Amino acid sequence: MTLYIVATPIGNLDDITLRAIETLKSVDLIAAEDTRHSGLLLQHLAIKAKLFSLHDHNEQQKAQILVEKLKSGISIALISDAGTPLINDPGYHLVKACRENNINVVPIPGACAAIAALSVAGLPSDKFSYEGFLPAKTKARQDSLVKLVNQSRTMIFYESTHRLLDTLHDMQTVFGHERMIVLAKELTKTWETIVSYPVAELINWLNEDTNRQKGEFVLIVEGHTKSDEDIDANVINTLKLLQKELPLKKAAAITAEIYGLKKNQLYQLGLTVEN
Ligand code: SAM
Repeated sequence: MTLYIVATPIGNLDDITLRAIETLKSVDLIAAEDTRHSGLLLQHLAIKAKLFSLHDHNEQQKAQILVEKLKSGISIALISDAGTPLINDPGYHLVKACRENNINVVPIPGACAAIAALSVAGLPSDKFSYEGFLPAKTKARQDSLVKLVNQSRTMIFYESTHRLLDTLHDMQTVFGHERMIVLAKELTKTWETIVSYPVAELINWLNEDTNRQKGEFVLIVEGHTKSDEDIDANVINTLKLLQKELPLKKAAAITAEIYGLKKNQLYQLGLTVEN
């Protein structure tokens, strides 16, 4: 009774490991996010296996069924549509349930878009924070970024084609125009592209050719470094408090005076943190 967490490719099908193939061949059942999608990978690998559907919306309920199956003595592999399961993919509830039931959980490591992008970004990689997808709604996204304004570690974000520019504009407002971002697009695929620019220039680069905005993206964002332009958490809190009572223009002017900062910079920030 073992659950194997098996990484699959993020584009290039050759990025499957020998151990992953052996494991997928040997297990009694493969739990997959999208059984049709995974069926194609298994067909490519000439693996005939029983598939079991486990996705975000049914995971908690299906995890219990899989735990019972594991307890009965069978072995199961969990795969996702791409890369490493649990990394912005289903699997957390299943792994937790298995560990609580003393079921052996074995990793079969392999591709992960976040780590692949970080490995070529040329930004500090000794410490980093994985942030996954930012919220889809503008206000919630901006609030999340404001919380990260003083994060000194390199940050990793996943982003989709249709929100890429909005996210970068928000990063520009909150982190400043100069914040360095490495955009890793379509990793391991035909149109793989890795570029690094200060955020304002990255936005220009994407606008020069709308094809550049299409595909799958990882954004590796330089951590905060102390500079004269810094806006620290206290400043943001003061601005937020004043904004509750005063018009933004006034709140920005008072905050600027307290901290000796530029009114306009705070006004721009206020636009993003406004309720
Ligand atoms: N479990 C996956 C992993 O290990 O990377 C991530 C799954 S998440 C649902 C999908 C997101 O990962 C995409 O929207 C994109 O942000 C990122 N991603 C996946 N494959 C990618 C690739 N080949 N190039 C760039 N980003 C990729």
